[in-house]
Amino acid sequence: MNGIRSLNNALTDIDVQLPPKQYIKNVLGVTCNNLGYLFGTVIEMDENDEAHMLVSYNLPESYPEMVNKVKGKILSGPAGETFKTGKIVVLHDPYSDPRLKPWSDLRIITGIIEIMVWVPLFKNGKIFGICVLYGEKERDIAQNELSSLESIGVMISIAIASNKYLDKLTQKTKELQKTYDKLEIKVEERTAELQKYTKELQHSNELKNLFGDVLHHDLLNPAGIIKGYTEVLLSTEKNQKTIRSLKVIERNTEVIIKLVETVSHLAKLESVDDIKFQKIDLCDIIKDAMSDFESELDNEQITIEFTPKLDCFVNVNPLVKEVFVNLLSNAIKYGGDKDKSRIIIDISNNNTDWIITVTDFGIGIPDEDKPHLFERFKRTDRRGIKGMGLGLAIVKRIIDLHGGHVGVENNPNGQGSVFWITLKKA
Ligand code: ADP
Repeated sequence: MNGIRSLNNALTDIDVQLPPKQYIKNVLGVTCNNLGYLFGTVIEMDENDEAHMLVSYNLPESYPEMVNKVKGKILSGPAGETFKTGKIVVLHDPYSDPRLKPWSDLRIITGIIEIMVWVPLFKNGKIFGICVLYGEKERDIAQNELSSLESIGVMISIAIASNKYLDKLTQKTKELQKTYDKLEIKVEERTAELQKYTKELQHSNELKNLFGDVLHHDLLNPAGIIKGYTEVLLSTEKNQKTIRSLKVIERNTEVIIKLVETVSHLAKLESVDDIKFQKIDLCDIIKDAMSDFESELDNEQITIEFTPKLDCFVNVNPLVKEVFVNLLSNAIKYGGDKDKSRIIIDISNNNTDWIITVTDFGIGIPDEDKPHLFERFKRTDRRGIKGMGLGLAIVKRIIDLHGGHVGVENNPNGQGSVFWITLKKA
């Protein structure tokens, strides 16, 4: 009786937060020590009726090896009876008990064992294992001890269930870790790829800058020298045929210089991804761009109609002037009959943007050419009109840098085109 009371006290002292297997070992330990058993084991049967020892307390060294040998035979002994009846089986004087006979040749039980108790372990109402206690002194086992052993069976069953749950959790955590590791490797690979790509991009940007510089120094300077000498020669030359040839050289050198300047300008713009903005009135920018064409407007009868509006502020880089210079230059170039060319610049707005249109009444643009017009070196069939196909690429690049949009439509009021751009209101 005393043994049961001290067993109960000892059981409640076991830390329930221990890992389940350690908890079961401690339960076995206090049971053996308080009820006078020598050692104990907890055995689980799998779906093939094979026994697996989960936990043991104070076990003789040779025992685990022996359990392995009785694999498949365990249910033929007293354990089988426990499984059949679902009740605790007590074996007195195990040597002479016929139920242990099938095992006797395995010499599982050492000479000192006088009593064996087989406690069933349940899960969902079904036996899945046994707790076996081995005593060295023959004695009667009272009903209250049997009740305590039943409770111990329940405690061990619960601990085994939580151990399974823990195993599953550990397994899931391992799987998660594996997935995470794989993901990490993928992220590392992607980062490495991106770094490589960024390096390549930097390299190609550097090449672009280098190309621009080479163009400037190695092409523009010699072209400038040719132009200078041509001018000197032209100023002294008397022979008309030579003068005509020199003028051809001069014109073509100017084309080269313009081309180099435009290409290196575009190359620089392409490598810019961060530009500085300032608040400027759009009308001032347009007027400034118009002033670049004063001489052409005077000589040829071209009119630009523009009625400035009040407070059309935008946050832009002064580069935006280039946009209007290019659009006006095209409107003049492709504006048709030079004697009565008419260009209209208009500013309208929606909630967020200013919409600027440059309308001409010139030769117009076929629909099939419109989608490619803003790509570099794209020219439609414009025989006789000088150009490089870079102006609109520059326009688009500058507007892109400002987060705006650009496009072209047919002039709804007759022949010609309407180029439009949008810029965010400041
Ligand atoms: P470029 O004028 O030097 O050829 P752009 O990039 O400025 O290069 O223009 C590309 C092409 O778009 C031009 O070759 C021309 O065919 C067409 N284009 C541009 N503006 C107009 C316009 N206002 N009217 C008709 N065609 C135009």
